[in-house]
Amino acid sequence: MIWRRSADKNERRAQAHALRPGVQDNSAHDQMRLGFDLDGTIADLHGALALEARRLFPGIDLAVLPNSAAVDDAPAGDTAADSEASALSIGALTSRQQRQLWDAVCERENFWESLDEIEPGSLRRLYQMVRQHRWELMFMTSRPESKGDRAQLQSHRWLMKHGYETPAVMVVHGSRGKICSALQLDVLVDDRPENCLDVAIDSSARAILMWRGDEGKVPGSARQLGIGSVKSMQECLDILEQLDRGEPDQGGVVDRLKRLLGLGTSARRRRT
Ligand SMILES: [Mg+2]
Repeated sequence: MIWRRSADKNERRAQAHALRPGVQDNSAHDQMRLGFDLDGTIADLHGALALEARRLFPGIDLAVLPNSAAVDDAPAGDTAADSEASALSIGALTSRQQRQLWDAVCERENFWESLDEIEPGSLRRLYQMVRQHRWELMFMTSRPESKGDRAQLQSHRWLMKHGYETPAVMVVHGSRGKICSALQLDVLVDDRPENCLDVAIDSSARAILMWRGDEGKVPGSARQLGIGSVKSMQECLDILEQLDRGEPDQGGVVDRLKRLLGLGTSARRRRT
């Protein structure tokens, strides 16, 4: 897993973050502004890759395929090396087989529209909540291009098909923390610890780690940086709904979110 491989680096970053002054929160909006990752958070990329891997390599044991992404396995020199998709580790495959797998899926017409929703109905519920609570929301993804329409357009249609009627989606690369800062987001939901770490370090937003695996294996550095984890979209949406219902005397968004995620609150990053 990426987190274990990068444990030392992440630990150093966490320590550096703990020593630096709090990130200035310059948001001036009244309602929550949210960011949601797609693959591994909402969209079942892993399932689609596993199907393709079984077609290409019939002997593969799907049980050993990981559920999460691992950026360290991105093939060097790949034009999509910065993309989340190219970074997905298919543990049972050699690097050559992984490249064959990615070549195959990217040759598929509008591949990104063929994915399933990990938790059917969650996007529809999210859309209803955004309307009801007057939130603003941006989906973000690092998908590489496949045959057919641009990944952004495929993602847009996919979100609409699954019940999010008016999606805003961007294909982005680089630090999600800097993106969250530029967009003045309050919360980013993402399945990759690396992205959550970027958010904690480079923005005043709070990251929620989508961690469907063993809760005991949530990286310790995540908790150290105030990154809470959830096991499902439903749990995440329940928390966001509670967060929105918070009373003024319960503190700002950050403190309420930390309480809901079972984390200690910090006066240093308290919002007004
Ligand atoms: Mg992801």
